[in-house]
Amino acid sequence: MLHTEEYQIATKLYRNGFEHGKCNMTRTERFSELLNYYKELTGFKETNPNAIMHHRIDLYGPPCECCSKPYRTPQAKFCAACGHKRTATVTNSNHTFTEEEQKWWQKLLESNTISQPVLAVSTLIAKLDLNL
Ligand SMILES: [Zn+2]
Repeated sequence: MLHTEEYQIATKLYRNGFEHGKCNMTRTERFSELLNYYKELTGFKETNPNAIMHHRIDLYGPPCECCSKPYRTPQAKFCAACGHKRTATVTNSNHTFTEEEQKWWQKLLESNTISQPVLAVSTLIAKLDLNL
């Protein structure tokens, strides 16, 4: 199991594999950076890059399309880190967010993003988008 920061690096390496990999590479070659990174961290020689990513995705949801941080749950509607609205529609969750919950959530964002101007801008955009 990876920590959040470690998982962010793993996500980057995973993306690199997609972006820079060649068609004639095997999956192990294409994602060798990720596999090597995982081995250094855990000492375990994983050969399936998807398995590394899924350890985390099962618990915390997939990485945000905007900032690559994991959503907190597979059912999350918003990214906790940047406020990005998740594009995938959620069909298997009974929980609906009330307006009250959204505001509580936005307050958390504000305190987290003061030292990160770029994220603060995206938070502002998210707020405008939400009409808060
Ligand atoms: Zn995000």
